[in-house]
Amino acid sequence: MEGISGVNSDNQTSAAGAEYGRARKLMVEDANAAIRGAFEGGAMQVVVNDSHGSQRNILPEDLDQRAHLISHSFKRHGMMEGLDSTFDAIIFVGYHAKAGSPRGVFAHTGSGVLRDLQINGQSVGEGGMNAFLARWFGVPVIMITGDDVAVAEQKETTPQVRGVTVKRAINSRAVELRPLADTRKEIQEVAKATVAAARKAPPERLARYVVRMEMRDPTIPEVASAFREIRLVNPTTVEFTRESMPDAYRLIRVIYRFINTD
Ligand SMILES: [Zn+2]
Repeated sequence: MEGISGVNSDNQTSAAGAEYGRARKLMVEDANAAIRGAFEGGAMQVVVNDSHGSQRNILPEDLDQRAHLISHSFKRHGMMEGLDSTFDAIIFVGYHAKAGSPRGVFAHTGSGVLRDLQINGQSVGEGGMNAFLARWFGVPVIMITGDDVAVAEQKETTPQVRGVTVKRAINSRAVELRPLADTRKEIQEVAKATVAAARKAPPERLARYVVRMEMRDPTIPEVASAFREIRLVNPTTVEFTRESMPDAYRLIRVIYRFINTD
């Protein structure tokens, strides 16, 4: 949601926020633009996975009626729930910069607890982590929408991706928003072109996935290291190894989302 056209404040992105109702409407409009383009480009089926916060932001009555909707955050694979090797292409809508980016609208990775996430030594944000899972299934990430920082970061892990920059990050809070009609038109056009050109790749399955999670404080590492396979590297950092990316993704998500130290 942070990278949706028109979204510019944290009272829009949390469900308790005063402007949340507006933001969820803006969110579905960007999704609908991508869906229209995807069908124009030859898609036969579109599945939308609501991926922000509660993951119950999109109202089915507002979504393009041709699309299926995966809803609710209690998922093994979070932002990538539903993906398997039967899909032909992936579009990321509304992405934001990774944790630690000095610029980028509400930069974070997964939740507010992470300072940095590394997979096999590569620092990644949400789009980078999700691209690892996409490659496991051999499904290309063809397009991303978001602020300029999110789009640039995605090109580091997914060089062939087409980006639609819907806003320019001035710092971690202020943004320059493009006109809504322009961004939605461009999202539709790029979705059409990239879906029409999409080609599946062979699955890329590495021998192991070594995940390092550096947290903002030591509480989650203290709890997580109770599990023998999760190694405490230092008081704020844990590391673990998995032989499949779906397994690694699942555990990353358990650590950043489901360990509650409040
Ligand atoms: Zn996020």
